[in-house]
Parts: sequence; structure tokens; C-alpha cells
Amino acid sequence: MAMNTGTVTRSDARAPVIGPRTIAGIFRSTPFHWVGNGFYVSSYFPRADLPAERVSPFLLMDYGPPREFAPLASGQRGVGWHPHRGFETVTVAWEGEVAHRDNAGNAGVIGPGDVQWMTAGAGILHEEYHEREFARRGGLMHMMQLWVNLPKKDKMTAPGYQPITTSQIPTVALGDAGSLRVIAGEYAGASGPARVFTPITMLDARLAPGGRLPVALPSTHNALAIVTGGRVRVGERHASAGELVLFENDGSELELLALEDTHVLVLAGEPIDEPITQYGPFVMNTPEEIQQAFVDFRQGKFGAVPE
Ligand code: MN
Repeated sequence: MAMNTGTVTRSDARAPVIGPRTIAGIFRSTPFHWVGNGFYVSSYFPRADLPAERVSPFLLMDYGPPREFAPLASGQRGVGWHPHRGFETVTVAWEGEVAHRDNAGNAGVIGPGDVQWMTAGAGILHEEYHEREFARRGGLMHMMQLWVNLPKKDKMTAPGYQPITTSQIPTVALGDAGSLRVIAGEYAGASGPARVFTPITMLDARLAPGGRLPVALPSTHNALAIVTGGRVRVGERHASAGELVLFENDGSELELLALEDTHVLVLAGEPIDEPITQYGPFVMNTPEEIQQAFVDFRQGKFGAVPE
């Protein structure tokens, strides 16, 4: 490239860059809505003003803040049998207990601190409920669900299920700043237990007032900080609970400064540079593949609901 022209080519823009990242934008999550009758959530994305390629490989992030549920005499709270194809669902329960059952033969209950990483792949049917005894007792539910896209070559992979207990998740002490849990990727030499299809970092941090959280990431990875509680300063900007900070891909590190007791999730990953076509619970590359998903679902190729 000629010198001193000031021109930045597309390939230059994607080359790794060393240094701090700047902020691309701060976005407020949606008003709360119910998913089924069990999960009262706010969506950080998708959103019309946040292009899918800027949050790739992530597709959706629903957050359910701590919410007290009264004891339930009968029935269930949650979402009944439904299909997915072409991506993964990642559920974290910080409080309460979420029960999962799918027609690939996997079932499990995640309790405080646990993570469930489900690969829908070629197709799965599952149900997601408050665990029955927890629902009977009533109590606090605090959870999130993240959808992670799969690359084209893995969209039709066999369904999978990773129950990740809190004891498997390394906690990194940050001194006076607080601590974080490494669910996926690496931080300060600690490796997250999640097995992933594309490079992903998922950090679950609790910061004390004045606590600094520096995170080193390849500049080519998309990076988001999701503030679920408290307030942070990033560069010259502030972000509070319910806000998402999108970073530019212009540096190798980001830093958050907590202004109060803060809960923040750092999500980062290598973007999947492929077209996305989504319809409801199916996320594929083309409209034809979505149509095929409906055909396969109607023809029972996702399998049957278990007894
Ligand atoms: Mn689901």
C-alpha cells in the first residue's frame, strides 16, 4: 500500500491491531417480556440498530434479573416442547433452578452458578422449565439465555449437551476489584470449560466500586460488555444496568471501571462471516435451508417428543 495516502483498505481494517479499543456504541436493552410463563427477560440483542455481523457469533441475549416467584401449587413454569436448528443455546442460572429435557436423551437441572450449553445442530426438541420442586417452593430466579451461532459446516452437526456445574468454572480473583468466572475462552491463564465450535470468550464478572477489569482479546474478535447490574465507566462513557457496550475492532484490549457494585458479562468471539437467515427457532444460512427446516420438522425428522 502506498504510504501517506491515509487510505485504509478492508483487509487492513481486519488485520490485528494492538492497543485499547474504542466504543462503537452503547445500547439499552428492550422492555421486559415473558418467555413462556417462567422467564421474565429483557433482550440486549438482536436489535435493528445493531447489525448481526457486529455481534456475531452471538445471535440473541435474554437476561432475567432476580425475580421472586410465589410457590406454585400445580403445573409448570417455563416453555414447553419446541424445536431448534443451526445454533446453540447457553443458559446460566445465578439463582433458582432451571430444568431441561430434550429428545436427544439429555436432561438436567442447573442451579445457582451452573451453565447449560446445548447444541441444537441438525435439530432438537426441548423443554425449559423451572425445576418442579423449586417451583413448588417458590423463590428467586435469576438467569440468562444466550444464542450462539454455528458456522455453516457445523449447522447440521449432531445435537449435544454440556452440563457445566459451577465447580467446573474457574474463578479468577481480581484483588480489590472483584472476581470473574471464565465460562468460555481464557482469562489470566484460566480456561473456561465450555467446548465451542468457534473461538468464544464468556466472562461473568462481579466488580467492586473502583474495580478495574482489563480484558485482552484479539482485535478481530467482536466484543460486548453486558451490564446487568451496577454501572461502569468505559473510556469517557458510562454504561449502567440494562446497557450493552459494543466495542470497535480497533484494539487488543478493553477495560471497564466499576463505579459501584457491578455485574457484567464480557462476550467476545471470532465473527462467523457467513449469511444468517433466521426464522423463529431456526438459524441457517439461506431461506431454502429455513424452508427445509420447516419441512423436516413437519415430517418428524427432528424426532418425537419423549414419553
Ligand atoms: Mn429453546
